[in-house]
Amino acid sequence: MSYKHPFLPRRQSIAVQVGNITVGGDSPIVVQSMTNTDTADEEATANQIAELAASGSEMVRITVDKTESAAAVPGIKARLKHMGINVPLVGDFHFNGHKLLTAHPGCAEALDKYRINPGNVGRGKRGDEHFATMIDIAVKYNKAVRIGVNWGSMDQELLAKLMDENAKADSPKEPKQIMFETVIRSALESGETAEKLGLPKSKIILSCKMSDVQDLVTVYRAMAERCDYALHLGLTEAGMGSKGIVASTAALAILLHEGIGDTIRISLTPEPGAARTKEVIVAQEILQTMGLRAFVPLVTACPGCGRTSSTYFQELAEQIQTYLREQMPVWATQYQGVETMSVAVMGCVVNGPGESKHANIGISLPGTGETPVAPVYEDGKKTVTLKGDNIAAEFQGLVDQYIERSYEKL
Ligand code: SF4
Repeated sequence: MSYKHPFLPRRQSIAVQVGNITVGGDSPIVVQSMTNTDTADEEATANQIAELAASGSEMVRITVDKTESAAAVPGIKARLKHMGINVPLVGDFHFNGHKLLTAHPGCAEALDKYRINPGNVGRGKRGDEHFATMIDIAVKYNKAVRIGVNWGSMDQELLAKLMDENAKADSPKEPKQIMFETVIRSALESGETAEKLGLPKSKIILSCKMSDVQDLVTVYRAMAERCDYALHLGLTEAGMGSKGIVASTAALAILLHEGIGDTIRISLTPEPGAARTKEVIVAQEILQTMGLRAFVPLVTACPGCGRTSSTYFQELAEQIQTYLREQMPVWATQYQGVETMSVAVMGCVVNGPGESKHANIGISLPGTGETPVAPVYEDGKKTVTLKGDNIAAEFQGLVDQYIERSYEKL
């Protein structure tokens, strides 16, 4: 099945199999996430992976930073299997990945992909050897790798070399352009080296994560032009709350609109006590609102204004969106295409009926001073008018009936 948007281009990349998921080629853009537990804590990590997978993460990355973490990976995999979860696991390695993967074959075997940061494998010849060790292990166990360059940890030797060359050039470029080139060359040359070491292109994904929106766009446009490796997209260190969401969306939307990106991760800093799954929901919503994939029926709601003096319609919109998200895992096994359904919850008669008519099912609540009734529209036609204290529950029931009637049973 092709997941090309009818009006948007899609850059053609080499498909990479990661466990039971395909990244790149004509496959849907994959949503991934990362745990923030201590990987050495098998139970906590397995539980968070399960939570992320249940929220829709199609791959989950875990930190593998020390002996205890590497030793815990097979146990984490076994726990997940016991829970019936087979989400692909990605090991995030920095500095000592060559040692950990060599010393813990069970870890190397249990992971589906290794993330290698060329800026953090070591310097010079030793760095090359460490990189080669990790690639050899990926070849041995038939695993995919992501060569993940990061703005914050770029290859300093390559940067110094390119800066020197630039200084001697007839028309030197801006230092920032050289930094971009360092990041890009580091990823591309590492990919080529991995291929020379025997890892096929169909096992290699590249990323060049930046923390500035325009920098990310510049670098990925160049990457897209210069190679056909599958690309992992994400704004690194996006930040917390709305800033993180807006910055990630601004950057990714431009690139996705241009057909660039085969898998995405939203690097949100969780607010204290907030669920880690937020980054999965944001990733899904970016893809869905851009029309690139559908995951869960989305609610269209008006912002409210002076015509809505109560928060009732906001509460209803929130309640319905939560209900849809909670029900989706069940519906997904029962009804074909239900994830594409649109639901409108509107605050008054100004735009309420119009927007409700455009949705599959919509409700227009009474604004201040309006008759306390709420007309419901299904497929553009008014079907019933709700009133009284039970509007929320009754509307929810109508949504259930609409789904039952309108979507083919699986
Ligand atoms: S639909 Fe009504 S309540 Fe909602 S923003 Fe528009 S005018 Fe205000």
